[in-house]
Amino acid sequence: MQSSLYKSSFSEDIDALYRILDDAAITPHFQPIYDLLSGDVVGHEALSRGPLGSPLEMPDKLFSTAINCGKLHELELLCREKSLRRFSELGLSGKLFLNISASLLSSPDHQKGMTLSLLEKLNISRDRIVIELSEQHPYDHFGLSRASVEYYRRMGFNIAIDDLGVGYSGLRMWSELQPEYVKIDKHFVQGVDKDTVKREFIRSIIAIAQSLRCEVIAEGIETPRELESLLDLGITRGQGFLLGRPVIEPSCKQSKFLTNSSRRFELRHAVDERDRVSSLAKEVPSVSKDTDLGTVGQLFKSNPVLQAVPVLSNATPVGVVRRSDLMELFSTQYGRALYEHKQVTRLLRDDVLIVEGYVSLSKVSYQLTNQDNNNLNNEIIVVEDGCYVGIGSLRDLLKRITDLKIQNATYSNPLSLLPGSVPINRELDRRLNSALDFYLAYFDLNNFKPFNDHYGYARGDLVIQLLSQIIKREASNSANFIGHIGGDDFVVIFGSDNWQVVCQKILDQFAQQVKDLYSPKAIQEGGLWVKGRTQEVSFYETLSLAIGVVHPDPYACESYHEVAELAAQAKKEAKAMGGNAIFLSRRRKMRSESARKEGNN
Ligand code: C2E
Ligand code: MG
Ligand code: MG
Repeated sequence: MQSSLYKSSFSEDIDALYRILDDAAITPHFQPIYDLLSGDVVGHEALSRGPLGSPLEMPDKLFSTAINCGKLHELELLCREKSLRRFSELGLSGKLFLNISASLLSSPDHQKGMTLSLLEKLNISRDRIVIELSEQHPYDHFGLSRASVEYYRRMGFNIAIDDLGVGYSGLRMWSELQPEYVKIDKHFVQGVDKDTVKREFIRSIIAIAQSLRCEVIAEGIETPRELESLLDLGITRGQGFLLGRPVIEPSCKQSKFLTNSSRRFELRHAVDERDRVSSLAKEVPSVSKDTDLGTVGQLFKSNPVLQAVPVLSNATPVGVVRRSDLMELFSTQYGRALYEHKQVTRLLRDDVLIVEGYVSLSKVSYQLTNQDNNNLNNEIIVVEDGCYVGIGSLRDLLKRITDLKIQNATYSNPLSLLPGSVPINRELDRRLNSALDFYLAYFDLNNFKPFNDHYGYARGDLVIQLLSQIIKREASNSANFIGHIGGDDFVVIFGSDNWQVVCQKILDQFAQQVKDLYSPKAIQEGGLWVKGRTQEVSFYETLSLAIGVVHPDPYACESYHEVAELAAQAKKEAKAMGGNAIFLSRRRKMRSESARKEGNN
């Protein structure tokens, strides 16, 4: 960076600071924050800059000089005012993330409502402002209390903890302030694709965030591999040089790069063909923007079930013309004569949802129900790389989601509500067909039958529920698939590479928590004395968990049958180890039938 090449003296820095304050010479830059799955901009972080080429161009030096001169508050207020004015001037979309020193939050200048009146003047609603508090700056800790943060929250602002993970008190701030957002510092993002420890940290942050209903934003994404790792981990918001640098005038455009990478992600993971929005698309004739309304009227006449015609600009949809609007216009006296030669743009409605075909139905339903305006759209225009493919209706979407829900319920295990063997097998075949790399872990309990016989099936059910809860808690993420084959048999298909850590956690937690389901006497004795069929009494150790893991070769296994056979063998080995055990099979494919016969001879 230009300014860092030149080392200025302290007095030069002080002079530069006073000039900046006198001339209000701060230029806010804005860095976009994206929804990593849709590629949409969800907000902008304001980052202040001193004059270009001056020793205080970059904020770190600018702010440290201001602290040394006792001018922090003055500088902060200037930065904030400039950021708000520029945000409004540029008409930027989404939320505005403002870095604010915590000590300022409690200062009288702030409480006088200076920001509120400015917001009103600029017509920016309060719920679009997110106050970023960082524990990076030691001076920030003075005066920051839950009460002062609550005060601002009650006024309608959102709170974010910035740079989580680099200081000492991030978790404490998180638990005390209960922010709406946490931003994971770039330290954890850089090289996350090569570092299992960083991934573990991020996983834990996500788990806490989920339970506290807090959104996680990843900062400093620089490479496509980092982005892909974050998506695998389940991060859905982020910023970084890869996606957009801080600039004076950001474009607010959807990130093409993100839509492509999220398409790859969706294709690689979760969504089955039938669960994608492309399955709703009906090929309905479209018209261009300069088509006249008479032609559209003809289209409706010749196609009585058609309710809306998509309007394209080149190949890109811009909205629809609805039958009801056209009929209303034409039904007035002279309506047809007056309007049939006018362009469709006259009746163009753009309150439709335009979605890439690979997106999952559930995500579209989420988008629809979380729209700011209340009028739910009737049409869903499906596109591929932005080009028109077809049109679906809200009714179709609801019907499909209901059907899927019913189908899932049919194939789910009633105890755990997890998918049973039909969806498990379908998922295995899907991953094999797409040549995806995955591990399959097969979970089975040791000594479950005697436990059931001794305590009765109701307590047996509690054991199954306990195990399913632990597995769900530890293994749920967008790359994994959890299933319940039946009885005490569960599987997890791991698309993420941390299967070992997760299985160990499940094992440890089960071993600990299952004790609560035994009597103290049984715990003391290490198991149960149970009468068998022939009335003899045998001793059975407390329940333990056997996990057989396989890493099938997707190029050598043709269907789920082979994977299931590999998994059954691995489970047998794990059981043979006795007690709580994990066994990873080195076998990646089944031997062919002829090789098997030869082996037997
Ligand atoms: P921050 O709030 O954590 O801001 C993110 C910093 O990371 C910015 O540095 C940004 O340019 C940089 N960054 C963004 N994406 C990437 C990336 O992919 N890789 C790397 N290596 N860096 C990336 P910047 O602009 O130098 O700001 C530094 C810090 O100065 C900010 O850290 C923030 O704490 C503070 N700051 C900036 N403007 C203001 C302000 O107006 N008020 C206050 N109180 N603090 C500010
Ligand atoms: Mg920040
Ligand atoms: Mg930060």
